[in-house]
Amino acid sequence: MSMPMTITYTHGDNLYVNTTNRCDFACTFCLRHNGNNGSIYTDNLWLEREPTKEEILADIQSRDLNQYAQLVFCGFGEPSYRIDDIGWVIDQLKAQGCTSFIRMDTNGTGCQIHNRDICPDFANRFDMVSISLNAETAEQYDAIVCSDFTGSYEAMLAFAKEIQKYVPHVLMTVVDVIGEEAIEKCRAVCDSVGADFRVRAYIAE
Ligand code: SF4
Repeated sequence: MSMPMTITYTHGDNLYVNTTNRCDFACTFCLRHNGNNGSIYTDNLWLEREPTKEEILADIQSRDLNQYAQLVFCGFGEPSYRIDDIGWVIDQLKAQGCTSFIRMDTNGTGCQIHNRDICPDFANRFDMVSISLNAETAEQYDAIVCSDFTGSYEAMLAFAKEIQKYVPHVLMTVVDVIGEEAIEKCRAVCDSVGADFRVRAYIAE
């Protein structure tokens, strides 16, 4: 018998929306292949198939959005694969009066994935985009993320710059385990792009 799909789940004050398993990266630390058995990430978030946009909308609508600080489109993979459907879902929610603060957590390579500039698709939909910066040089980044594409570091930085035209809050994040020196170098990269910088606690499972 198939398990029910986990499309939305709560974490902290936020409601997260899991839209895809697909990812163009294979990060060394990714929970998709490092999670322990029994972890919510490995068991419940792996989607048997991708939910349709109608299923995503219905799942969000089954929640009381007033209870959450943010509605976060993420994925067990990279959510920008679903940018067309996510845009549709947000438009429906807004047409129904939704005023939630809406965020996407992304690796920032959606333009490479779609081979087009997806930044305008975020306009009037997202309040915040959070991009994983991961490392202060392209070389280190490539070794961590193992992208399907070449030039992903540069593409991610270009996205982080361009998306600021369309989204009021743009964050770049690193995990705390990279150490103080690397954090400060990443902060400088982030400053050069003009985004806000955030150090996240690494969650092992
Ligand atoms: S970008 Fe995210 S989902 Fe994709 S491999 Fe890296 S950590 Fe995993």
